[in-house]
Formats: sequence, C-alpha cells, structure tokens
Amino acid sequence: MARAITLRQDGTFDTPCDPIIPFAKGDGIGPEIWACARQVFDRAVAKAQGGRSVDWLEIAAGSNALEQYGDTLPKDSLDKIKTYHVAIKGPITTPVGRGIRSVNVALRQALDLYACVRPIQYFSPAPSPVKQPELVDMVVFRENTEDVYCGLEWPVGSPEACAIIALVSKLAKREIRQDSGIGIKPMSKFASQRLVRMAIEYALKHNYPSVTLVHKGNIMKFTEGGFRAWGYELARDEFGDITLTEQELYEQHGGVLPSDKKLIIKDRICDAMFQQVLLNPKDYSVLALPNLNGDYMSDALAAQVGGLGLAPGANIGQGVAVFEATHGSSPKDAGQNKVNPSAMILSGAMLFAYIGWEDVAESLRGAIAKAIATRHVTFDLAQQMPDSTQVSLTDFTKIILDNL
Ligand code: NAD
Repeated sequence: MARAITLRQDGTFDTPCDPIIPFAKGDGIGPEIWACARQVFDRAVAKAQGGRSVDWLEIAAGSNALEQYGDTLPKDSLDKIKTYHVAIKGPITTPVGRGIRSVNVALRQALDLYACVRPIQYFSPAPSPVKQPELVDMVVFRENTEDVYCGLEWPVGSPEACAIIALVSKLAKREIRQDSGIGIKPMSKFASQRLVRMAIEYALKHNYPSVTLVHKGNIMKFTEGGFRAWGYELARDEFGDITLTEQELYEQHGGVLPSDKKLIIKDRICDAMFQQVLLNPKDYSVLALPNLNGDYMSDALAAQVGGLGLAPGANIGQGVAVFEATHGSSPKDAGQNKVNPSAMILSGAMLFAYIGWEDVAESLRGAIAKAIATRHVTFDLAQQMPDSTQVSLTDFTKIILDNL
C-alpha cells in the first residue's frame, strides 16, 4: 500500500518508495499536459533504481472543483496537500472581472507558500532572442506573500481610499490627488529574511557561487531598501562563517574568494539588473527578489531561454510545496494537442528533487534536453527554431519517453 511522505523533526522529508502525491489537472490546456507529464513521470520513476512508484491522488481545484464542491479551492484539497506535503498542479483559469478569486493566489496564501522558485536553464537549441542563452543558469526566489500583491487596494472615491488620502495629508503633509486609487505595499523583515534564507540554503546546497538581492531600494527605502538591508543582515548573522559580501570580496580580498568562504552575497537595483541579465548573465546565479520584481524578472528570464513552454516553477513553504509550470491555462490552445508539456515535466523534476529523488529529476531534465535536441518540437519552439519540425503534444511526449 502506498504511503505518505512524512516530515522529520529536522525539517527533511522521509520519502517512502511508493509515496502518495496529490495532483490537480487544472483548466484549459492543463488536463492534456498532465496526461502526458504523468506518463513521463511514471516511466522515469519505474526506470530508477529501487522498485519505486508514485500513487497519484487527484484533488479538485479550479473549474472541476467549482462543479463538484461549489468552490474553486475546496478545503479537502488543501487538507490533502498539507497531509502529503507536496502536490503538482496544472494551470488554473482566473476569469477577469467576475469576482472569482485567483485559485493560485488563494493556494499560496492558505498554505503560506512564501517562496516562488523558478530555475532558468537553457536547453540547446531552443530558440532565444539573445546570442548566448547557454550562459543563463539562474534560479529565481520570488517572495510570494507581500508587496503590492498583498491584496490591499481600494478604488478611486471609495471610503477607504478617501480615508487614507486624508490620513497621509495629515501625517506626511503631502497631498495625494483625490481621484487616486490606493494600494498598500507592505514588506516585512520576517518575510524578506525567510525568503533570503531559503535562497542562501539552496545556493549552498547546489554549489552556486552567489546570491543577488534584487531591489529598488534607492527609491523605496523602507520597503525595497529594507529587503536589501535585511537580506545582508541575515546572511551575516546566520551564514557569516561561509559567506561574504561582494564589497568585502573586492575591498578585503582583491576579488579572490578566500578558501573558507563558499558564497558571495551581492545586490543590484532592479532596473540595472534587467540590463545585467542580458549583458552579463554568467555573473548571476541565485536571485532573491520581492514579489513584483520577481514576477517581472522570472518571465523576462524565461524568454531568454525559450519561453513559457520551458519554464517550471514551485511555490514552497515550511514543509509543504506545490509545483506548477509558470505558464497559464492558455484556453485558446486547449484540446488541440499542440502545446509544450516541458514546463510541467520540469516542474515535476523539481518536485522529485524536493522529496529526495534527485536521480529521477536528473533523468527527466536529461530527457527534455535530448528531446529538444532532436529539433522535433511543439509549435512554440518550432515557430522560431530553424530546421525544426513541428510535432504535436503527444508526439513530443513520445520523443521524451524514448529519451528517458
Ligand atoms: P498563458 O500562459 O496561458 O498563455 C500565454 C501565451 O503562452 C499564449 O500565447 C500561449 O499560447 C503560450 N503558452 C502557454 N503555455 C504554453 C505551453 N505549455 N506550450 C506552448 N505555449 C504555451 O497566459 P494567459 O493567456 O495570460 O492566461 C490564461 C489563463 O491562465 C488566465 O485565466 C490566467 O489567469 C491563468 N494563469 C494561471 C496561472 C497558474 O495557474 N499558475 C499562471 C498564469 C496564468
């Protein structure tokens, strides 16, 4: 009988050889991508050593949950994710302006999935707008709970907006135009530091050379500037014996990393960083960013290495994580057997690495790399890749399976 993954006292997972893993198919292109990804996961796990298997447990989320439970994110689904510690989901449609909450945002809030983690890796010969996409090897850690995404916003003329305008006028002696919408941007030391801690631990575990704090602290001194200051403070207080700042590296060590140090902590102002990732990508590896900067940066970096069809992701909290592609449900492409399953398969690779099955993760990444190298690829890549042949979702899945 399949068993649950359990969490040890020290925060690591005890993964049985037959774990139960919840999944939600999602909306739009979600179900067809999931069907293909699941075949690939099962084959990769079966081929790995140790007689392992996964017992996939379906949970409802999105439109199927609305039909079944009258709720797009039922409590039963949340409870199962908590019980089994990990889950993988397809994209879920958020209808615009119909008062339906975003399942994705609700999920992150309900489970306090405070870090959105997105590795950006190039698979040759995927099409790219830059000359040397192979120099991009970065992992984005985006804060997932605060900043302008916290949901505190009021429309023009609302009692709340008027009250805040009046308060600011009294406290700061500054006038905000009466016809302004108002949003709040809270950024705490607590949330910034737990995100930076996760980024540093990840960089150390995977032997990345640096963590870069990406902020706009020159303008927003007490929010984004706070993020920068708290990040450096945490690195010094909790990892000071093995990290050093970029400033210390050049001022005290002539730019040469001392043998007792493993990781450089640096920071960049966000607008400059968008230039840096285009001009000097090899100088950056793990990035830690507040919510809005991280949102923009992860899509820009995904474009540098071939687009959304190849961009995996994870929302990670304390002992619980939900894995999902960066892309949405793309309703216009649904049911046409044409989209790219790679982002979901690579999200699955992240899940397997997270539960300690790095060998399965590696075989999935290797199979995607080999499949893309055949130049028989789905439309999103074929459209821009010279000498390529466009194949369907199911045919591309067969190529991935053949390369496992
Ligand atoms: P989208 O990511 O669905 O589509 C954007 C573009 O990317 C489209 O041109 C599409 O053809 C392409 N694309 C997306 N996935 C692809 C794939 N696997 N292979 C090839 N091409 C792919 O973004 P959108 O159109 O802005 O959003 C559609 C819906 O998805 C909205 O309701 C939105 O709220 C939702 N959404 C959900 C999530 C999530 O569940 N995490 C994330 C983003 C958007």
